[in-house]
Amino acid sequence: MAIPSESQVPGAQGALNAYLAALRDRLSLLGFDCRVLANPQPGAPPLLLARRIEDPSLPSVLSYGHGDVTHGQAADWAEGRAPFVLRAEGERLYGRGAADNKAQHLINLMALDAVLAVRGRLGFNMVLLLEMAEEIGSPGLAALAEAERAALKADVFIASDGPRLQPGVPTMFMGARGVLNFDLSVRLRDGAHHSGNWGGLLADPAMILAQALSVITDARGQILVPEWRPRSLTGSVRAALAGLPVEEPEGPALDLDWGEASLSPAERVFGWNSFAVLAMKAGVPEAPQNAISGAARASCQLRFVVGTEPEAVLPALRRHLDARGFERVRIEGGEASFAATRLDPEAPWARFVHQSLTRTAGRAPHVLPNLGGSLPNDIFAGILGLPTIWIPHSYRACNQHAPDEHVLMPLCREALGLMAGLWWDIGDGSGLPEGRAGTAG
Ligand SMILES: [Zn+2]
Repeated sequence: MAIPSESQVPGAQGALNAYLAALRDRLSLLGFDCRVLANPQPGAPPLLLARRIEDPSLPSVLSYGHGDVTHGQAADWAEGRAPFVLRAEGERLYGRGAADNKAQHLINLMALDAVLAVRGRLGFNMVLLLEMAEEIGSPGLAALAEAERAALKADVFIASDGPRLQPGVPTMFMGARGVLNFDLSVRLRDGAHHSGNWGGLLADPAMILAQALSVITDARGQILVPEWRPRSLTGSVRAALAGLPVEEPEGPALDLDWGEASLSPAERVFGWNSFAVLAMKAGVPEAPQNAISGAARASCQLRFVVGTEPEAVLPALRRHLDARGFERVRIEGGEASFAATRLDPEAPWARFVHQSLTRTAGRAPHVLPNLGGSLPNDIFAGILGLPTIWIPHSYRACNQHAPDEHVLMPLCREALGLMAGLWWDIGDGSGLPEGRAGTAG
């Protein structure tokens, strides 16, 4: 944590390389063959590809971590704390990157070490991809996965990032919602015009935009665009989501009268699509004039689950708006996006991991078919075609991406046991899902 690997800060190349080198040394001690790979995207930081092949006929696990962190925000940490000085207070360990993602991948490596210490071998092959640019959108990661497809071949993807649903209960999630950001704009004329002289004669772009937004969802946020309404909320997904706690003691009170009325709160955030207006503007809100503005704009976002294809989102919206007379509303942007991913909770590897975690913890984990948020899981699930399982070792109030980031020591301690148990069980081989992808030896 002492290495300030802030990928968002220009000139951090030295620190990013230093973290990669530190991990390479640690992995070499664990018997991994390490390659530092130039990022396919010029100017983006290098990646580490580490492989520990015991026998190509054994099962292979692909894992992942990111060694870069968000901006340290040193001035904003509480008295006595600093982003790049690891500090223990009570049962918390403070430091930038503690939760996101350094302690998480370190726990997984320490668990490997623990298995090796007892068994002398893992009993499976392990491939680890470590990137240093997750916090700037993982540039080059997809291209690298394409280029290194053979070296990354595995039977399952298991990694750790993000928070548990509740700190005291192990959690597994198997994908993420996709995300698409775009603007809706109405531009009718240059400049604003006196609302006394022209009011009633000139169409109001803000009113047109507001009306257009009102046909995207109804008054309680239920999506009205037919193609945006998921058909992937299957029985097994509903069963996994039943009873999951979505309340966060330190978060805002939930609006239970918001969103799809027929769904539970957990289904609304993990099993359904949600539309949000992130920002909107017409005229000058800070200093309104008696004038009809010439343009209005809203920055919008759709979070979506499996079954909604990113390429189909905006054409569907275009048809929906046109059919209701909103041809003047332009749809702009929408290029960058994450696709949605999900693994059925009944999938063989999901069941295997569930059983292992339950056995070690002595209680069942929370199972999320996918996260509500978004991460580049489509690279592993889509490009590499793997069943993807994430086992997060942090919790929602960990202050990741904010001052005073920390992890909980009791949670880390339990996570170390859970992961050692999982690696042990995979190496043991009994009850493993049938069929090997094999690995490039
Ligand atoms: Zn992050």
